[in-house]
Amino acid sequence: MNYVIMDLEWNQSNTGQEKEAKLLPFEIIEIGAIKLNSDREMIDEFSELVKPRVYHEMHRITRKLIHLQMEQLEQGQPFEEVMKRFREWCGEDYIFCTWGPLDLTELQRNLKYYDLMPLSDGPIKFLDVQKLFSIAYEDKKSRRTLEYAIDYLAIEKDIPFHRAFSDAYYTAKILALMDEKVLGNYSFDVFHLPGDKDSEIHVTFETYAKYISRKFADKSQALDDKTVMATRCYLCHKPLRKKIRWFSPNGKHYYSVSYCDRHGYMKSKIRIRKAEDGGVYIVKTDKFITEADIAAIRDKQDKARQQRKVKRITKNRNHQNGTGSVPADSVSS
Ligand SMILES: [Zn+2]
Repeated sequence: MNYVIMDLEWNQSNTGQEKEAKLLPFEIIEIGAIKLNSDREMIDEFSELVKPRVYHEMHRITRKLIHLQMEQLEQGQPFEEVMKRFREWCGEDYIFCTWGPLDLTELQRNLKYYDLMPLSDGPIKFLDVQKLFSIAYEDKKSRRTLEYAIDYLAIEKDIPFHRAFSDAYYTAKILALMDEKVLGNYSFDVFHLPGDKDSEIHVTFETYAKYISRKFADKSQALDDKTVMATRCYLCHKPLRKKIRWFSPNGKHYYSVSYCDRHGYMKSKIRIRKAEDGGVYIVKTDKFITEADIAAIRDKQDKARQQRKVKRITKNRNHQNGTGSVPADSVSS
């Protein structure tokens, strides 16, 4: 399997007033990519400019950040043609790799805008090299800039930054240096969600498990689903009894703790995410924790309870005071 390390540059509206601004907030203006073979040696490169069709003026930030002029872009080829060549160039057996999680989503949004064949009709497995860098070299979750990573690894800066090709090139160099086992921490782009229950994603990583659901009409439908709410040990697959029932501190995240006789305490976290065309989907992660971690979760639960109580009291008080109806002092006797 090859690695296709891709980087995009995109432009956006200066005003947000165009009717396209919602459908195509980021118009791709350049695609750069490097191909590595299975031994992570560079075997090919791709670099093309895209002729803009929606935004014909550079966004003020883009102009400062990337070294591209509108006049240069006008020399580029239409997106359809660039994509056709790019897809051929990618070949058959490869995994996409990007710095950060955004490029694949925007690529798919551009494909959809021009009504071109999607890359996939479901989630796409890819390597987020920015995330891998943090797993490989940092002790906490962090999002570093590409330049930070290059400096950290003392990679020679032999070409300028902030063009699609150069950023793909540096990302490829970082990927090539990484310990093989870090590459097991792949991600999913969910621009296209799993189409049905059977294609939902269940994966187990070294220290946690992840589930990505199909699309639900709304949150309450999602929270009614058995698979969403299930707390099964991700190692022995037994249904587990909950020690802390599902609770939410904010209505977006839900937590529970359950217990497996063989594997110990398992914390589950549900995130409610907005789907691309309306509706919601669920990302659930399961992770084994220590007894000390449980105290922190109980704290979170207590705080959530307190907040609900305060809300309820405020609501009742407002109700009693007749807030929203005629103020008492305006009633004439
Ligand atoms: Zn177990």
